[in-house]
This record gives sequence, structure tokens and C-alpha cells, in this order.
Amino acid sequence: MEKKELLYEGKAKKVFATDDKEVLLVDYKDDATAFNGLKKGTIAGKGSINNRVTNYMMQLLEKEGVKTHFIKEISDRETLVKRVSIVPLEVIIRNISAGSFAKRYGVEEGIVFAEPTIEFSYKNDDLGDPLINSYHAIALKLATREEIEKIKAMAFKVNEVMKKFFASVGVDLVDFKLEFGKLSTGEIVLADEISPDTCRFWDSKTHEKLDKDRFRRDLGNVEDAYNEMMGRIFSK
Ligand code: UDP
Repeated sequence: MEKKELLYEGKAKKVFATDDKEVLLVDYKDDATAFNGLKKGTIAGKGSINNRVTNYMMQLLEKEGVKTHFIKEISDRETLVKRVSIVPLEVIIRNISAGSFAKRYGVEEGIVFAEPTIEFSYKNDDLGDPLINSYHAIALKLATREEIEKIKAMAFKVNEVMKKFFASVGVDLVDFKLEFGKLSTGEIVLADEISPDTCRFWDSKTHEKLDKDRFRRDLGNVEDAYNEMMGRIFSK
């Protein structure tokens, strides 16, 4: 598969065309941003870790019956994926209070919920990805009611599979962000990435943070945390 023109460059990834119009090539970078691009930096080795971790999770999810855009890992940092049109919603699942949830409701981090929660943000950098409810998403034609119901069911399934997997490597899955895409057939599939950039991971025993919060909050040992997560996942 030939790598052709750059179609899109985001904060953490580049997306290239290939000689097959239904196939794209994703190239993961070491660049890191936080707070809607206000904080910038690099995390050495992150691109390769996020590529490999994402692909591990996508394959695990496929085995459990979740359809994804994953096709094939072709190098340390590069992966072939199915072309989708991204549904412009960030889908956030939470098992434990943290981040914007704790801030919005004035509660401490670390409250374990009786049931997981779901929320959506409208993917729009100019607006700062505002929180949105499903009625507003439908009104704005970001997705249909049926697509939103499908996305919700898939997101909770992803949570069940990942919670169990991470528990087996001594990690609490606190929360995470998913993105979904539509194939040319109209089928909804899981897209984007699943990595320490997009999930909160806490060590089950010590509650040490093993994710991008180490970068966001200047906690130090950022690279160590990413390496630790990769080590635990690939020791399975
Ligand atoms: N998240 C993400 N991209 C975003 C916003 C959030 O991947 O643009 C992830 C984040 O890493 C965390 C979860 O979604 O695992 C919930 O994030 P939250 O709403 O608490 O926002 P934050 O505190 O990160 O601003």
C-alpha cells in the first residue's frame, strides 16, 4: 500500500491517502497538546506507544464483537484504517470521577460510580468542544437518533471490555474518550485512538496516574507512565 498525499494533520496524528480510496494511513506523532491547544509539548516515544496500544485495543474489541476502523499496523507509528466520515462527537465514558466532571460538579476525584456515565462533546475547536446533549446533536444533524443509540450501546460495550482488560493488568479505567465514524455503507464503527492520551489510567493499588494527566498537570515522569502502560498491556 503506497503512502500518498497528506490529507489532514491534527494535534497528535497525521492522516495520509493511499492508493486505495477506502483506506487511509495514520501516522502518530510525539507532539502533545492540552487545554484546547494552549499547552504544547512533546512526549518522547508517545507516537509509537499510542499506535501500538490503540491497535492492541482495537483488535481486542474486534474479538469481542465491536466493529472498528482498524485494518493493519504497518510500522511502529503507522497504521492502515478504513476511511470513515467522523461523527463530530467526542463520546466520554466515566467509571470514576475525575477531570472536568469533578470540576463541573464540585466533587473530589476518585468517587467510584455505581454505574458508568456517558456524555457527548461537540467536536468543534473554535467553540472549545462544548458539552452537548443528544437532542441538540440531532437538531444540528451531527447524527441521527438511531446512530446515537448505536454509538451509546457500542461505547458501553467498549467500557465493559476495557474495564475488565485493564483490571487484569492492575489498572483502574477511570474515564476515556471515543470517536466513531461512518463507513461508506453507513455502518457505524469505532475510530480514532485508545491510548494514554485519551484515557485516564490509575494504578489499582497506588492510584498513581499513568496517563496524559502527568503532562497536563506537570506531574513529571510522563514518558515513564506511557512506557509503564505499554509494558503492562504487552506483558499480557
Ligand atoms: N479526553 C480526550 N480528548 C479531549 C477531552 C477529553 O481524549 O479533547 C479524554 C481525557 O483524556 C479523559 C476523558 O476524555 O480520559 C474525560 O476528560 P474530561 O472531560 O475529564 O476532560 P479534561 O479534564 O481532560 O479536560
